[in-house]
Amino acid sequence: MTFAALGLIEPLLQTLTSLGYNEPTAVQREAIPAVLKGRDLLAAAQTGTGKTAGFALPLLHLLTLQGPQVTSNAVRALILVPTRELAEQVHQSIQTYGQKLPLRSYAVYGGVSINPQMMKLRKGVDLLVATPGRLLDLYRQNAVKFNLLQVLVLDEADRMLDLGFSKELDEVFAALPRKRQTLLFSATFSEAIRQMAGELLRDPLSVEVTPRNAAAKSVKQWLVTVDKKRKGELFLHLLRSQNWGKGQLLVFVKTRKGVDQLEQDLRAAGISVDAIHGDKPQPTRLRALERFKAGEVQILVATDVAARGLDIHDLPLVVNFDLPIVAEDYVHRIGRTGRAGATGLALSLVCADEVNQLAAIESLTRQTLTRHEEAGFAPDHRVPLTDPSGQVLRKPKKPKAGKLAKTAAAGKAGKVHLGNWFDSDQPKVKTVRRSPGLGGKPSAKR
Ligand code: AMP
Repeated sequence: MTFAALGLIEPLLQTLTSLGYNEPTAVQREAIPAVLKGRDLLAAAQTGTGKTAGFALPLLHLLTLQGPQVTSNAVRALILVPTRELAEQVHQSIQTYGQKLPLRSYAVYGGVSINPQMMKLRKGVDLLVATPGRLLDLYRQNAVKFNLLQVLVLDEADRMLDLGFSKELDEVFAALPRKRQTLLFSATFSEAIRQMAGELLRDPLSVEVTPRNAAAKSVKQWLVTVDKKRKGELFLHLLRSQNWGKGQLLVFVKTRKGVDQLEQDLRAAGISVDAIHGDKPQPTRLRALERFKAGEVQILVATDVAARGLDIHDLPLVVNFDLPIVAEDYVHRIGRTGRAGATGLALSLVCADEVNQLAAIESLTRQTLTRHEEAGFAPDHRVPLTDPSGQVLRKPKKPKAGKLAKTAAAGKAGKVHLGNWFDSDQPKVKTVRRSPGLGGKPSAKR
């Protein structure tokens, strides 16, 4: 299928051709015609699926066909996003896709001065990308008006709730015209998201481009078990031994302090690194991101919030130095690799303390991650086995002879060190296979 077959206007088609977008992605194939027809949309689509163009292209099309209608402080299409980084990224995409169109777009978010934003909004904009808190501030100061608003997009709705924006969102919804089109995008679907969708959407088209709460299929996922205190050492060892030096990588660390520490260690080892987290000023974060995207820095170390929505092309590897506290973040993190058809690798360094987080991730993504133990880094504190139902198996049963290879702790083909879990007369290393694809069951029960 082509973009032309979706009925998009010529200037958009020309831009898409110049960007090398040959055909619509799955979410675009479903979303674009529905949005053009004025339908509400409930889309289960994570970053990397092309969801931004899925809503931006039909909005640009519709607003252009309607012609200029903007009056002072008015907004015709509002796109709510959880973080400033995502706001910048979505706005950049809108500008790119709309480069041949006579439309105005803008992004507003907190952490920077509100005055330039108020000035910019005076003339009104066709498309406004906003984080909920700053949008409300602007609304309360009459810097933005919603009387002309036609379309509301909630991008990464799950993340907005995770970040505690529920009250702000309710306040924004109450200020919007009731008659409007609403599009809701979310990578994961909790009860709260379903409830929000039930309240906001009218007879929506449901689009699901990845299995609910399943991680992107093109990403190979591994975990390496290690003691907490040796994570930094293991990371440096892998960096060197696995030839990671050749490509760029994004590393997720749980805390801001942890980010600073790893950045410092890598820098001391002579590695080109930058870091982003919530304590760093916004311009510093944007600069770090730009430098990383331009390939000037090899490693970017980030917390979840700071890394939200990062659009980085062809990133081959994402490393979870720590597992995230919220299991959904794992899906978002690994969505940075294996994008737009490329295969990626997501590697998690996991210590015994993190077994509950691991179990939650495996339950959410309906899989058991392939374990690996790096020679010389076998943990003193073993990471208990887990299974895809989210169980932590503290005392696994001794397997029957010949069943060793069928442990659920071993995912796709790979070397799996079974360590202390089995009798010493059992082989310590076994290669195991299971059918490819996420959510697939291991080849047999433990
Ligand atoms: P998103 O899921 O919106 O963050 O988009 C993921 C990436 O895919 C972005 O880098 C887009 O530029 C790219 N992309 C989106 N749609 C297409 C398409 N139809 N063909 C090729 N690349 C695309």
